Amino acid sequence: MKKFGTGILDELKNASIDASKCMQCGVCSASCPSGRHTTLNIRKLVRIAGKTNDILSNEELWMCTTCYNCQERCPRNINIVDILLDIRAISVHQGFIHPEHRVVCEMLLEYGHAVPINEKNRKERVNLGLEELPETVHKYEDGLEEVKTLLASCGFGKLIKHTESRVTEDKT
Ligand code: SF4
Ligand code: SF4
Repeated sequence: MKKFGTGILDELKNASIDASKCMQCGVCSASCPSGRHTTLNIRKLVRIAGKTNDILSNEELWMCTTCYNCQERCPRNINIVDILLDIRAISVHQGFIHPEHRVVCEMLLEYGHAVPINEKNRKERVNLGLEELPETVHKYEDGLEEVKTLLASCGFGKLIKHTESRVTEDKT
C-alpha cells in the first residue's frame, strides 16, 4: 500500500495547490450549503488535508456536493474542490468507499448505468411518447460490451473489488 509522507497534499497531482495558503478565514464554510445540513466543515477539512493523511477515511469527504461555492469565494484562490476530488480519488484507491457508492459502481460495471432503467420508468417513457429504452447501452447491447471493455481496461472493476476487501478489513 502506498504510504503518505508529511501530508497528503504532497502526493496529489495538483501539488502546486498549497493548502498552507489557507488563512482559516472561514469564508468557505460560510458559503457551503452542505455544511448547513451535515457535519461537513470545509475550512477544517482544508486544514487537515495539509497536515495529515488521516483525512482518507474522513466521512466528510463525501458530504460535499461539488457546487464550487467555496472555491469561487476563497480569498486565497485555493482550489478547494479540486483538492477534495483528488483526495477522494486517493481515498478510493486506498480502499475507502461508502457501501452505497460501491453499489452504484457495481451497477455501472454490470449495466453500464449507475442507475439502470426499471419497469416503472420504461412505462413512463412510453406514456410520455418516448421509446421504451433511451439511446444508451440499454438499447444497444453491443455498446454495453464496449463499456465493459473500457471499464476493464482502466482497472475500474479491480479497483472496486479492492475497496470491498478494505471495507471488510476495517470492520473486523
Ligand atoms: S475560504 Fe480559503 S482561505 Fe478561507 S478558510 Fe476557506 S480555504 Fe482557507
Ligand atoms: S463545493 Fe462542497 S465544500 Fe464547497 S461549498 Fe459546495 S458543498 Fe461545500
